[in-house]
Order: sequence, then structure tokens, then C-alpha cells
Amino acid sequence: MNTEQILIRGVETLIEAPGRVRAGPVDILLRDGRIAAVGPALAEPQGATVIEGRGLLAAPGLVNAHWHSPMQLSHGTSDRLNHQAFMWENQVDTANRSAEEIYASAVIGCLQMLKSGTTAVIDHFPEQGFGPEDVAAVVRAYRDCGMRAVVALRIFDGEYADILPAADRVTPALAAALAANNPLAPRPLAETLDIVRGAIEAHDRTENRIRIFPAPSNPVRCSDALLLASQAIAEEYDTGVHCHLLETRVQAELASARYGRTMVEHLDAIGAFGRRWSNAHCNWLSEAEIAIMARRGAVAVLNPESNLKIGSGIPPIPRLLAAGVPCALGNDGASTNDNLILQDAMQLAAILHRPSEPDRRNWVTVADVMAMATTGGAAAMLEPELGRLEPGCKADLVLYDLAAPWWVPLNDPGQQFVFGERGGSVRTVIVDGRLVVRDGRALLVDEEACSRAARHILPAVRARNGRIAQIAFEVAALQ
Ligand SMILES: [Zn+2]
Repeated sequence: MNTEQILIRGVETLIEAPGRVRAGPVDILLRDGRIAAVGPALAEPQGATVIEGRGLLAAPGLVNAHWHSPMQLSHGTSDRLNHQAFMWENQVDTANRSAEEIYASAVIGCLQMLKSGTTAVIDHFPEQGFGPEDVAAVVRAYRDCGMRAVVALRIFDGEYADILPAADRVTPALAAALAANNPLAPRPLAETLDIVRGAIEAHDRTENRIRIFPAPSNPVRCSDALLLASQAIAEEYDTGVHCHLLETRVQAELASARYGRTMVEHLDAIGAFGRRWSNAHCNWLSEAEIAIMARRGAVAVLNPESNLKIGSGIPPIPRLLAAGVPCALGNDGASTNDNLILQDAMQLAAILHRPSEPDRRNWVTVADVMAMATTGGAAAMLEPELGRLEPGCKADLVLYDLAAPWWVPLNDPGQQFVFGERGGSVRTVIVDGRLVVRDGRALLVDEEACSRAARHILPAVRARNGRIAQIAFEVAALQ
């Protein structure tokens, strides 16, 4: 636990929860990793670090509830690729990485998130099979950067049926090459579960802010045994379960063909679903599936930028909110959304449906998207004391400089946050009561050294994965 005390003097606050009003400048005291007090003229404890808050806006740190750190170095490489094509091409950039490369990729992402106001992330990690040393490397990145994170271990024991081309389009030579060099080849379930359990026992609750969750890649790539084991592990260790859910229409069709019912109906029927589950995308849910999610309290993690960029679907945000499904937001990986600015996802979540909804009373509100990006993400991380600037809550907060042009004049902080701020006015970031960014600079890691290390990784990984590239580009060309 962090024992540092921080007193922020006279800061504006952003409170966008329903029924809450902005109280004007206040002092905020942080102690033992929590918000100890919020109010006017708080007494200054001995030894506290004092931050002058005049001209700053304090907001809860944002939660990016779906991301893939291994893809982080691939921004700017994947335009005009659909889901199947990017999934294959991405293998060339992410397979066969060393621990140092895994670490550097995650750190570059952490820096971008922290410096734009995101303090917590669910990292669906990695894509291919992995070992204990890979998990240790990514955990070390979150530890070193001071970020709050769930490392959601991406597991599967079946084929990636949703991204394979139709059998009649695959030549025998390509089928043979794929069988010999498939980076997404499954491995035995028992082996996978041993690694997940070992990772939880070694790393879960590191520094009280890094969690390890089992995270099925997608139900269509997993056996029921794997899905049920994920649920059982989550109950045993009190973790969540993270997964991709119905990102593409093909996945919905595969589920119907395989299960004889929809994907969520199946998960619910076998007992592998519920409040522990956070589900990325949710683009192709039926009304019945939305009702199950609401009843079970399963979290929908929407990624509107990624979905639009690769044309995979449009998340049904108004329907989910109307049904009472807990909603969160994610940026998704850099191959499908090249930045980690969660405010972009917030804006899109608010306005995406307006052209098709003539009754503006049904439009998503600023308060809705603020909740999705804070308390909604916290629910996905199983962190009920995260995402609010209230006494007793975990001390993850961000101070924005109100001198930036998009804040002048300060008319409505909520609207200006969602529609104007893009991370450019972030001055100070505090995670778990500890300063991690001050005056716009990361305090715990050497930004220049990290950038230098990350700059040369992609060419080296691509050179290493020449055989995978031959197959991946051939398969992607069929999609
Ligand atoms: Zn994803």
C-alpha cells in the first residue's frame, strides 16, 4: 500500500453522476491509496505533498476496459483491413516476442494512456499461446509504470474458426503450410489452465493494483470445458473473466450453428456467465441476449472506434443502457484503433446513434458516457471503489489544465470533457494515491529510453516471423 499523503488545494471537480452537482473548487486529501476527504479548506497533514489546484480540473482516472498490449507497436499499419484480415496480418507483428519486447510494447501503451488521462486498463493478453515469463514481463510493465491493470490472460483450445477463409478457398498447399506454422494453434486445455493458475498465484493483486483474470479469446474459439474452467477459476480466486463477445456477424452465425442457440443463451445455460464477465464488443446481440446480460449483471465493454475502423459492427449502446446492462468503454488494440485516447471512444459512444434515432430524448448523455468510462470500467475490473471522486474510493485521479484553449471559457466541464478534451491538457496523474505523471511527464519510467527501446522492435519481430508472414498475408488476401 502507498502511504504517501497528497493534498490538492482548490481544484475544480468533474462530477457527472446522475443527480450530482458540481460543488465548485474543493480540496482533496489522498491517504493510503484512497481519497480520504473532499471539501473546502481541509487541514494540511504533516508531511503531505501539496498540489496547488487552482486552474485545474480533477476528474476520476479513465478506465480503458479492453486493450491488447502486444499490438501497441502496430499503430499506423492496418488501415482498410477487416476483422479477419487484420487478425492474420497482426500475427506477423505479435508472434514470437521476447520478454523485453512484450514489456516495451506494454510500456509504450501505458505512457500514452497515463498521459491522456487513463489510469486503469484491462489488457487482453496476448494472442498466441504464452508462458509464465510472458506474463511476468507484462506485469512488470504495469508495476514499473504505476498503472492499475487487469492482465486478462487470453486463452483458447479450439481453432480460430471465425477468421479462417471458407474451405473451398484454401489451396492444399496453403492448408498444409497453415497446419505446420499456425501461430494460433491451440494447445491442450490442462496445460493452458496450469499456466493461468500459476500466473494468478504468482501475480494476482501485485502491489494491490494488478489483477490476473482468465480471459477466453472468444467463446467460438473455446470448448465449453474451457469456459466453465474460467468461471470456476474466477470463483476460486475471486477474479473476473474477460472475453471477446460477438464482435462480428460471423461469430454470431458460428454460435448458432454450433450451439443451436445464441452465444449468450449458451453461456448462460451452461453456467459460464454473470457479473464476473466483462465482454468486449457485443455488436451482434439479440434482444434476448441483452436481457440475459442485464439479468446476470454481465458488463458490456464497447469499442466503437475499433468496430467502425474494421467494419465489424455497431455496438447497440442505447439498447444496452435502456435494458440496464452495465456498460464500459475500450480502445481495443492499435491495429484496429491507432490511439489510446479514451475520450474519443466516449464521444463516439455519445453520438454514434444519433442519425438513426429521431427522438433526441433517447440519445446517450454525457453522464452516461462518463459513467461508462469510469464506474463502468471499474465494474469490469471488479473494482467497486474505483471511478469516483468520493471519500473512501481508490485514489486514481487526473488533473487537467483549464488554461488549455478547449476549456476556455469553462461552460460545462462534462460536455467539454467528452467533446473537447483529448488528453492534451493532462498535467498530473495519480494512481493508487501515488504521483505517476507530473507537469505532463511520466515520473516512474524514463520515457526517452522506453521510446528508444520500442522503436526497433517491429522490424526485428517481422524478420523473425517471415514464415508466418507468408501464410498470414496469403490468408488475409482471401478475406
Ligand atoms: Zn479485442
